[in-house]
Amino acid sequence: MADCIFCNIISGDIPSCKVYEDQEVLAFLDISQTTPGHTLVIPKEHVRNVLEMSESTASSLFKRIPKIARAIQKSTNAPAMNIINNNESIAGQTVFHAHIHLVPRYSGNDGINITYTTNEPNFEVLGKMAEQIAQEVNL
Ligand code: AMP
Ligand code: ZN
Repeated sequence: MADCIFCNIISGDIPSCKVYEDQEVLAFLDISQTTPGHTLVIPKEHVRNVLEMSESTASSLFKRIPKIARAIQKSTNAPAMNIINNNESIAGQTVFHAHIHLVPRYSGNDGINITYTTNEPNFEVLGKMAEQIAQEVNL
């Protein structure tokens, strides 16, 4: 897609620091370097995000993640890593070509705060929610 920044990285029209490439997938350093080694893994096919991704694209994208993550870990000696994916603006997506963030973590107080609020469980509500999703998954 001509006006997509990541498609332009794939074609080489915009420079990037590549760490892995094959026919379906490209990985390169995120320009922000949230922590040293922060990497993005993207499908070469232009797809907006995981919500619009086919199973075959997801399969080729996600199956490369462990190998690339381990290579980052070996090179940086980071003892931990967050693997993050944002879908749509409300969730923090700013580039609308699907990408997975690999963020090496060096300490628990490096300014990154990924926490999930815990609510008191209401098992009746949970049961209904699970039922609805389960029905959709099988459609
Ligand atoms: P997100 O907010 O999940 O959509 O993440 C988009 C990411 O793309 C951000 O972390 C940016 O730093 C990164 N980014 C934007 N432009 C470039 C670029 N030209 N090269 C590398 N990373 C980029
Ligand atoms: Zn694109």
